[in-house]
Amino acid sequence: MLFSDLKIHPLILKALEAQGYKNPTPIQQQAIPSILEGRDVMGAAQTGTGKTAAFAIPTLQLLAREGRLENRGRTIKSLILTPTRELAIQIEENIVQYGKNLWLRHAVIFGGVTQGSQVAKLKSGIDILVATPGRLLDLMQQWYIDLRHIEIFTLDEADRMLNMWFINDVRKVLAKLPVKRQTLMFSATMPNEILHLADSILNNPVKVEVTPVTSTAEKVSQAVFFLKKSDKKLLLQEILKNEKMTSVLVFSRTKHGADRIVKDLDAVGITAAAIHWNKSQNNRQRALENFKSGKIRVLVATDIAARGIDIDELMFVVNYDLPNEPETYIHRIGRTGRAGKDWVALSFCDREEYEFLLDIEKLTGQKIRRMEKHPFHVSISAPISNAEKKKINAEKEAKKKAFRKENPRSFGRGRR
Ligand code: AMP
Repeated sequence: MLFSDLKIHPLILKALEAQGYKNPTPIQQQAIPSILEGRDVMGAAQTGTGKTAAFAIPTLQLLAREGRLENRGRTIKSLILTPTRELAIQIEENIVQYGKNLWLRHAVIFGGVTQGSQVAKLKSGIDILVATPGRLLDLMQQWYIDLRHIEIFTLDEADRMLNMWFINDVRKVLAKLPVKRQTLMFSATMPNEILHLADSILNNPVKVEVTPVTSTAEKVSQAVFFLKKSDKKLLLQEILKNEKMTSVLVFSRTKHGADRIVKDLDAVGITAAAIHWNKSQNNRQRALENFKSGKIRVLVATDIAARGIDIDELMFVVNYDLPNEPETYIHRIGRTGRAGKDWVALSFCDREEYEFLLDIEKLTGQKIRRMEKHPFHVSISAPISNAEKKKINAEKEAKKKAFRKENPRSFGRGRR
């Protein structure tokens, strides 16, 4: 199938051609015609399936329809709500690309930076607004944003909104939208809360689903290394000796862990950068740009900060920590295997994480290849028992206590 078979406007087709897009992806094939017909859509699709274009292209086309602008002037007609700044920026970038031959105006707003330039853009008059919930509510309360003319509302990555406790913010936004509108909702996973939300905001939606939620990106080779936690940094260094690994995204469960990985790599002469919430927006953007341009080989990210990282040339994902929620693994892996290329996802697994590995394999229904030929291999074949877990936790607590005793000034009130 070609994009031209989907009755896409010639000016948008031209922009898609310039992007090198020839064929619509499955989610685009399914969603675009229904959205163009004005239907509500509920899309089950993970990152990497082309879901952004699936809603951005028809949104541009509907808004660009002749006569719409002259009649109503510049009011915000489409709102796209997404959980993270990175995703918001990327959605706007896509809108810029697909809409470059149209006359529509757009803006992106997110927290963590001063509001001045965002407000100026809003004041200049826009048709499409991409926003994260916090900054949107903030600017709405300051009367910079009027949602009364919204015709198309898109809720992107709804399951993440839920996980990040944004769902109340989303409800506050919903209360300000016109009842008569077209609503598009996308979510990688479909827990009950999401189905419930969908029921309450969508009107007789067309349901489109591409890869089942439990499938990891098809083209990703996956492997797991069993080792001791303390050897993880050594294995990462060992793996990075392979010069073919030019672009490696390393996942860490915590911000602190991400910083430590960068430090450990720096110590052996490998330049890396971390992105997580404690870094300023500019700092994160810079790290991402340096990574995309190949200036740095390794980017270390926490799950939330990595949401929406869209890197075409990404080759390797390393799960330095295995996530305790199996869906998170699927999200991470979704970053590789894009655009039909073969990529690799490597996971480090210590004894405590073995049960997470089993959860992942249960959810995906795939057994991940065990890599035994590496210098740090330990044999792990069963999850740790509850008694062992208790013992490990007690040891951790004791260590923490001892550290606090030795470093009283790092804790409590005196800290700031
Ligand atoms: P998304 O799932 O929206 O994060 O998109 C994943 C990646 O696929 C992005 O880099 C898009 O630019 C790219 N993409 C989206 N649609 C197409 C298409 N029809 N053909 C080729 N690449 C695409």
